[in-house]
Amino acid sequence: MPGKWDWLKDEIGLSNFLTGGKMILRVISGKLSADDLTKCALCPNMCRHACPVSIVEGRETTSPAGKARVALMIREGKLELNLDNLEPLYTCLSCDICTLHCPFEFSVADLIRPVKEEAVRKGIVFEEFRDVFRNLEEHGDVYGARSTEEDGSGRVLYIRGCTIRNELPELGEKAFSLLEKFGFDVFTINETCCGIPAYNLGNIELFKKLAAENARKINQSGAEIVITSCPSCAYAYRVLYPEYGIRLRPEVFHIAEILENRLEGMKAEEEVTYHNPCRLALGLKQRELLKSILDKFEGLEVREPRKEFFCCGHGGSAVSRLKPELAREIAEERRQQLKEGANRVITACPSCKLALDGGELEVLDIAEFVYQMLGE
Ligand code: SF4
Ligand code: SF4
Repeated sequence: MPGKWDWLKDEIGLSNFLTGGKMILRVISGKLSADDLTKCALCPNMCRHACPVSIVEGRETTSPAGKARVALMIREGKLELNLDNLEPLYTCLSCDICTLHCPFEFSVADLIRPVKEEAVRKGIVFEEFRDVFRNLEEHGDVYGARSTEEDGSGRVLYIRGCTIRNELPELGEKAFSLLEKFGFDVFTINETCCGIPAYNLGNIELFKKLAAENARKINQSGAEIVITSCPSCAYAYRVLYPEYGIRLRPEVFHIAEILENRLEGMKAEEEVTYHNPCRLALGLKQRELLKSILDKFEGLEVREPRKEFFCCGHGGSAVSRLKPELAREIAEERRQQLKEGANRVITACPSCKLALDGGELEVLDIAEFVYQMLGE
């Protein structure tokens, strides 16, 4: 009679009679080889204490290893690939905070993505995501706004990203004039979404299509450098496009990286705390950037948040659409943490600003803060 662990033994190339418990211990200690998803599925959830979803929702199935187990079982045919079983996989912010605490430095979001990709290929898609795909397909904009803007020209292309264009245009205008003030020959173009919402939701073909369209427009613009206010755009351009063989000619920066070395002699008499955007701090490995920019202001009291990294609840494109209440609860948890530091919060991502701003908290993008400090 087949044993209950046989499917897993096949998975890790083991055909002897180890018990399940011993097998798990050997995999985790590295004595038996296993692929990364299997290792994560067998891990005693060493990073769950830091995962914002686990902290706020507290369900075993949506914990980091819980998601890996569901993904592994779907992959191995032990669970059906259907919306019920996909729900925990989409209850992930793609924030990569698990990576910081993982002994193997795994990103759960990356490990489970192939299962989402398979689901999209087979047409198994939540209703809540269909509009996103349609908006991106038809308008190249996650909000579905058809842009009629003219393409400009110059040396430095400023990319606003979908959220600034649709929700925070005044932030884009301030960032643009700040760049001009610092002497950049800056211009904008009729932008297309970088594709990261499609990537996060597992629609890899749509992501590749948008990425190719973006690369064509950016390369044709003649820009020597690209500066963006959106960490997800910067992450897509710098990390994802090369992974998929898509080449951008200009060098790409997040605007915080540009401001870092241009603030000598600036002063600010107040108290602030800060919120690190996941894609900037972890995706682009700029963990100290926001704090180091704020430390340059003479007289500014910078209070460190209780948790250095904690997603605003709106990362990863899925949770805010599939479970808006959970996204709000995660944002509220973050707001409480930030309030302990100061009521004025500096961040560097339009989505984090939208998620956290309001009530007692005033959340400013770093570009807005510098703009204000210059007396504009
Ligand atoms: S990401 Fe790492 S620490 Fe977290 S559950 Fe998976 S293997 Fe364990
Ligand atoms: S990527 Fe973020 S939300 Fe997803 S499992 Fe890791 S820590 Fe949790």
